[in-house]
Amino acid sequence: MTSIAGLLAEAKRRLQDSDSPALDAELLLCHVLGKPRSFLFTWPEREVDEVLAAQFHQLLARRISGEPVAYLLGRREFYGHEFLVSVDTLIPRPDTELLVDIALETLPAEDSLRVADLGTGTGAIAISLGLARPTWQLLAVDYVVAVLDLVERNVRRLRAANVTPLQSSWYSRLQGPFDAIVSNPPYIRANDVHLQRGDVRFEPRSALVGGDDGLDDIRLIVSGAPARLRAGGLLALEHGYDQGAAVRELFHAAGFQSVETRRDYGDNERVTFGFYGARDAQ
Ligand code: GLN
Repeated sequence: MTSIAGLLAEAKRRLQDSDSPALDAELLLCHVLGKPRSFLFTWPEREVDEVLAAQFHQLLARRISGEPVAYLLGRREFYGHEFLVSVDTLIPRPDTELLVDIALETLPAEDSLRVADLGTGTGAIAISLGLARPTWQLLAVDYVVAVLDLVERNVRRLRAANVTPLQSSWYSRLQGPFDAIVSNPPYIRANDVHLQRGDVRFEPRSALVGGDDGLDDIRLIVSGAPARLRAGGLLALEHGYDQGAAVRELFHAAGFQSVETRRDYGDNERVTFGFYGARDAQ
């Protein structure tokens, strides 16, 4: 038999390649024990039953081989809500919360707006907006059927009744007009070395890579947006740290105004947004 403290100490030692060995070990052990983190610190001497210890060691081995903690736990927090995640989806990132903030900040809270989230993945953006703005109608759009299943489960768990999953390849099956279109599309360059490192290795390539210059999907979303937005409608897109200027250029070329880029927690340009036509027409 091993104690909680013993298992954690061993795991921390073996997780030296992780950026956060202690946190990883704690999250995996909490998951196996079905307890909150405070339990680990309150009962460090408590013995862990052998079956549970074996389960912990299995997860630990997978983590040591590089699998992301979010996939091992099957969940990840985003915008204060717990989302189910699977290997079919990108793991929601804290930087993407910026996209949610921008929509909440720039759109009228009380109106019954129609908003589309393209390439929704777990549904994190659409559901966070839906929970914050019960009067809005959100479409959570993805073309991968397995992903839509997961969105449906997240909608039910988080009781986001105003979020509807829809299968569509970008705009192919969308009926406008929308008051806003938001998206965290794939935007990494096909030959980016970043794809061979860390969690990203385990995430679906289709959610990460946007062609040779990373901008294939962004170009398609920006050029198709005017036909689907109401006058004054918002388009807000996440992009790579070095793509801000190129994305602003695409927005301007498509007729967007008041185009602006916001920086993420790491102080990199991360989300560009603008309004189609005159803002005060909204
Ligand atoms: N920001 C993510 C990363 O660099 C990529 C997300 C995306 O392609 N939409 O790992």
